[in-house]
Amino acid sequence: MSIDDLYRRVIMDHYKHPRNKGELESQTVTATLNNPSCGDTISLQMIVKDGKIEDAKFRGEGCSISLASASMMTEAIKGRDAVSSLKLVDLFSQMMQGKAIDIDDFGLEDIESLSGVTKFPARIKCATLAWKALEQSLSKDCTNKEVINYE
Ligand code: ZN
Repeated sequence: MSIDDLYRRVIMDHYKHPRNKGELESQTVTATLNNPSCGDTISLQMIVKDGKIEDAKFRGEGCSISLASASMMTEAIKGRDAVSSLKLVDLFSQMMQGKAIDIDDFGLEDIESLSGVTKFPARIKCATLAWKALEQSLSKDCTNKEVINYE
């Protein structure tokens, strides 16, 4: 199996069997981001206590890349503190720019499958959308109901 096929298989697995999809009964922070260029929407809900992300769930509509990325992102941040989660947003952004990163920092090797997206610049926003939602929801300026266009 080629590396591209392997990556595709991992992405489709998260797309078809998304982790952490649904709603939290109580949430402390939330953000909804829209990617107009593809029509993807990701709503992230998290319970953050004492600077730690205790739980995270998402709802969304869109392409396989955007939803698989949201599934992987929520897996990577659950139980992690907010500061180090924000570092992962930066790390993901570096990966999308084709920079060499240490994938172990994510604590979830599935995320490496999204590195193949760098070959398709139009899809980079799809992959990054969930991570931008994470960044927004952890930022103090976030208003809970507004849908943010990621352009
Ligand atoms: Zn998309």
